[in-house]
Amino acid sequence: MSVQKVSKNVYAIKLNSSEFSNLPLINLYLVCDEKNMIIDAGYDAINKDLLRILKELGINIDYIAITHIHLDHASGAGLLLKSFPNAKVIVHERGVQHLLNPNKLWESALLVLGEYAKGYSKPISIPIDNIIIGKDGVVFNLGNIEIKVLETLGHASHHLCFFNGSHIFLGDTAGIYDNGIVIPNTPPPNFDYNENIKSINRIISLNPKILCYSHYDFSNNPQNLIIYKERLKLWLKVIANNLNDKELINKILEVDKEVELIVNKRRFEINLSIQGILHYLERIGKKIEI
Ligand SMILES: [Zn+2]
Repeated sequence: MSVQKVSKNVYAIKLNSSEFSNLPLINLYLVCDEKNMIIDAGYDAINKDLLRILKELGINIDYIAITHIHLDHASGAGLLLKSFPNAKVIVHERGVQHLLNPNKLWESALLVLGEYAKGYSKPISIPIDNIIIGKDGVVFNLGNIEIKVLETLGHASHHLCFFNGSHIFLGDTAGIYDNGIVIPNTPPPNFDYNENIKSINRIISLNPKILCYSHYDFSNNPQNLIIYKERLKLWLKVIANNLNDKELINKILEVDKEVELIVNKRRFEINLSIQGILHYLERIGKKIEI
């Protein structure tokens, strides 16, 4: 695990590729002022290294801002709270019940991720007094820095982004950014195309300067948001036109050559995104208007 300075008050805490190789790598972000906010908590396995880094930086955590409750982002929040018991956990209102009682979330993760989920620990439940519902538009004041909550549905029905006026902490709203390429991150069971596009349009309208992706890096190219929208639209079309094809990944590669650069490394995620889009098409009766 390593720390990289994104800008004056913002750090990226990055998992390196050799660590926890059976689990997804993730960037957590720290926004430091009189009060400090960490964006996402990661999962239990990284807790020890995370605490070491926070100690080295001399940082107390006041807010744990959860972009969404998927295990790679939120399952470590309970354990992190043990070290910062006064911290408040900010979460979408649809996520609250799952932080209070993680049983259902755990079972559904085992269903979607299969064996892959076993690398995680079952999340520890979070006391209600530590939870703040992240309502759209609410602003958290860290001192000089203000962080605004944005409801950004699409990847999940309980997704938030956080915005400080220049950096947007995207969670999984705007895809996976790897090697300069941005690809859809649209897993089952809740991916919703229209909601996702709405969220991206809203983010674009805010004119962010730095895009802080959870997977796997930050970027100072806001153009990525446009590329993401176009690619998502293309994948949706290809999948909708080839519903019964067993090798949808190949159909995508036929028309989206750039993805070849990362297909071997990101095959698991790409297949999960395909599953999520299929699930979405099934839900809406396979009728798309894009
Ligand atoms: Zn994720």
